[in-house]
Amino acid sequence: MSNIYRFAPHVVHFQIPQTLIQKLVFMKLDELKLLNFLHSEFQRTNRSEVTLQADAISGKTGIHPTNLGAARSSLVAQGLLLIRKTGKIITYVCTDPSDRTPVPDGILYGGRINFDDASADVLRRYFEPQLKLCKPTENGIKGCCPFPAHDDKTPSFSVELMDGGGGRWSCFGCEKSGKLIDYEVYLSEDAAGVTISRTEAHRRVADRLRVLGVKESTKRRLDDIVYSYCDEDGVVVSETVRPGGKKEDMYRRRPHPDTPGRYIANTKGCANLLYRLPEVIEAETVIVVEGEPDVERVRGLHLIDAGSSEVAVTTIANGAGKWLPSHTARLAGKWVILIGDNDLDGKGLKHMQQVKASLDGKVTDLRHIQLPIECRDVSHYLENHSAKELIALVGEDWLDPITEV
Ligand SMILES: [Zn+2]
Repeated sequence: MSNIYRFAPHVVHFQIPQTLIQKLVFMKLDELKLLNFLHSEFQRTNRSEVTLQADAISGKTGIHPTNLGAARSSLVAQGLLLIRKTGKIITYVCTDPSDRTPVPDGILYGGRINFDDASADVLRRYFEPQLKLCKPTENGIKGCCPFPAHDDKTPSFSVELMDGGGGRWSCFGCEKSGKLIDYEVYLSEDAAGVTISRTEAHRRVADRLRVLGVKESTKRRLDDIVYSYCDEDGVVVSETVRPGGKKEDMYRRRPHPDTPGRYIANTKGCANLLYRLPEVIEAETVIVVEGEPDVERVRGLHLIDAGSSEVAVTTIANGAGKWLPSHTARLAGKWVILIGDNDLDGKGLKHMQQVKASLDGKVTDLRHIQLPIECRDVSHYLENHSAKELIALVGEDWLDPITEV
């Protein structure tokens, strides 16, 4: 991320990324107005997401309401913005113009409390007021279980107090255990057994820690990596999430239809779209790889095709063997480059052969690139090979050889 958004009110000198300068030059006035307004909102609210109604934007920017949609779509297609729609209300998500990925909340714009920043003393003050007959133990404190569901008369509830990662508690009476979020969940349980959600519990923990003096984290936490699948208007339809960046815990989710900023952890009823669809639609040449991280890796090369247009890179959700006729339809008439994985079981090759069979005759032309067998996938290939080598592998008649970055 460039310094432009992070420190804009305080700096007199900063570097604007080259990719953004190129875009600004060609931008229409309404697009510039909208981008400028949204970034002042991101800054003002200290968040990388803002929810706004069209009238409010028109009123504040002077953009005519009928032109707002076009300006928004153009910014989305350029990767400068992501949006989610809930009726007339649209949530705008800030993206990093240098790599066009969403800027996660709380990293550039602050506001996130890292629970592991709570010291042993903060944790003691967190639990102590709620534990009757509280007394110290070897590694923490012990008292009567505070949960409404457990009428504890003798201290059965103990908490481990230590700096960084402390706060683990357990009750040998009701046999519950956990950390801060679980604590707030059980504490909220009413007579009917209903509790608050984990999201609400998370908010309560953060609020209480803030009151106890824990400062908002400036450290970059290992954040969830989110890959958003948008429709042609740039509206987020579904997302692939890698919690803490880990592939093992990967899951799919969709925006909550009524509550902006909330999600449902499944993709029921969602259209199965190509990843980075707005860019695919704009492009004449499209590279198909396996998996979103490979898409992002190749997109980062900003490859240019023989017609001097930026090459789009895409994949499908849910992995190999799920290619649909609707995906083929989106690539009709384009120049398509397939770069599959080299799996030991040959699944990657089989997948790309299926994609190839589906695309044959529907696209202008197609090349299926076989990576050297020692490379697992295109990201692995690019660890030991330059962009120039990849361009040569595809063919310099298709990709501009001077686009090396
Ligand atoms: Zn208990």
